[in-house]
Amino acid sequence: MDLLHTQLSNIQRQLSFVSVDPINWKLYVQAFSWAVTLFESYLLLRQYPLYSKTEPPPALAGHFDPEVFKKSQAYGKDKAKFALFSGIYKQCIDSLMLHYGFYAWSWNASGSLLARFGYGAEYEILQSIGFVFILFFLSSIPTQPLSIYGTFVLEEKHGFNKTTPSLFVMDLLKSWGLAFVLGSPFLAIFLYIFKWAGDRFVPWLMGFMISFQLIMVIIYPTVIQPMFNKLSPLAAGDLRNRIETLASKLHFPLKHLYEIDGSKRSSHSNAYFFGLPWSKHIVIFDTLIQQSKPEEVEAVLAHELGHWYYLHPTKMMAVSQLHIFTILALFPAFLHAPPLLRSFDFSKAISAQPPTIVAFLLFQMILTPLEAFVSIGMNAISRHFEWEADRFACELQDKLKAEDMHDMGDRLGRALITLHVKNLSTVWVDWLYSAYHHSHPTLTERLKGLESFQSQREKKKM
Ligand SMILES: [Zn+2]
Repeated sequence: MDLLHTQLSNIQRQLSFVSVDPINWKLYVQAFSWAVTLFESYLLLRQYPLYSKTEPPPALAGHFDPEVFKKSQAYGKDKAKFALFSGIYKQCIDSLMLHYGFYAWSWNASGSLLARFGYGAEYEILQSIGFVFILFFLSSIPTQPLSIYGTFVLEEKHGFNKTTPSLFVMDLLKSWGLAFVLGSPFLAIFLYIFKWAGDRFVPWLMGFMISFQLIMVIIYPTVIQPMFNKLSPLAAGDLRNRIETLASKLHFPLKHLYEIDGSKRSSHSNAYFFGLPWSKHIVIFDTLIQQSKPEEVEAVLAHELGHWYYLHPTKMMAVSQLHIFTILALFPAFLHAPPLLRSFDFSKAISAQPPTIVAFLLFQMILTPLEAFVSIGMNAISRHFEWEADRFACELQDKLKAEDMHDMGDRLGRALITLHVKNLSTVWVDWLYSAYHHSHPTLTERLKGLESFQSQREKKKM
C-alpha cells in the first residue's frame, strides 16, 4: 500500500505545476473538444460517399436482394447526415456553455437554492449533488429535440420506430428519476470518501467503484430493466431445449432464460447474458426470435457463450478498472488547483478552496482528447473478442464432440446476415471510420473469419 502511495505522490509532484501556473485551461478544452468533433466529422465525410454505392460487397452479393441493399444504403445515409449535424450541434452547445461560464453559474445556482432551505456553504456534498443535477438537467434540454427527431422522424421513416410519444416521455421521466435515486447516494459516498480518506483516497475509491458495479449487476436485471421492458421466461419448445442443452454441455450456470419485449420500442434485434459468476441470465430479444430460425438463434447464443468462456466481460472490466485507476491517480494534482477553477470563471473565493466535484468535472473535460484514444483501444480489444467468440462457435463441434453442431459457423453466418438485413446495417465501411467507432468487426470481415475458422478445422482433421 505504501509503495502505491509513494508512486502516486511522485505523479502528483510531476504535475505540481497545475496547482500554481495560470494555464488557460478553458481555451485548451475548447480547442481539443473542437478537434475531436472535427475529426469525427471528417470520419463521417469519409464514410458518406460509400452510401452511394449501388452494389453490395462481392462477398455479400448473394445475400442482399437489391431492394434491401438500397434501403440499407438510404438508412445509412440518413443516419450519417444526422450524426454529422448532431455532433456539431452538441459541440456548439458545449462550447457556448464553456464560454459563458455555465459551470460556475450552476455551482452558484445550487448554492442559492440550498441557502433558501437554510443550508450554507458548509454543506458541500449537498451543494455538489444540486450542482450535478442542475448541470445534467439543463444541459440535456437542448439535446432533447435531437433524440425526438432521431426516434420519431429518422427511425420512423425507415420503419424501425415502435415508440409512442407517451412511452418516450415516460422513459425520459423514469430515467431522470432513476438517475436521481441512484446518482445522489453514489455521489454522496464518492465525495465523502475524498473527505474521509484525504490524500489516500485512490484504493478506497477503487474499492467503492468495484462494489458499486457489482451491486448494479444484481440490481439492473431485477429492478431497473423491468421498469422499461417486460422479461418473460422463454416459452418451452425447440429453442429453449437447444439453449438449455448448450448451456449445460458448456457448464454455463444458467439461472434464467428470458425473452424481452425489445419490439416495444424498436425492431432492432439482439441477445445477451449477464449476472454473477455462479448465476447467469440469458436474454433474447423477441425480434431476434421472430426473425431467425431456432438453430440460428442457438448459434448466436453459442457466440455469446464464447464471450463467457473466454472471460471477456471480466477482462473488459479489468481494463476499465485500470482506466479508472489512471484517472484517479492523475486527479490529486488537479484537486487543489485554484488556477484551474479560475480559468473556468469560478470566483476567487470558491477557487481558493475548490469543491471536489467541480475539480473532478473540470479534470474530466481536460481528459476528453485522451478519452478518444482510450475508446479506440477499447474498440480494438472488443473487436478481437468478437472474433474469438465467433471462432468459439465454429469449434463447438470439436469441443463438445457434438456431431449436430458441425454447421454452427454456417448457422451463425446466416443469423448475422439476417440481423444485418433486418436492421438495415451498413455494409460498406471506411477502415478509419470503423477503427474509431466499431466495437464489432464488419459483416464481411466476420463472414470471412467464419469461413477461415471452418477451413482450418477441416484441415486439422485431415
Ligand atoms: Zn459478441
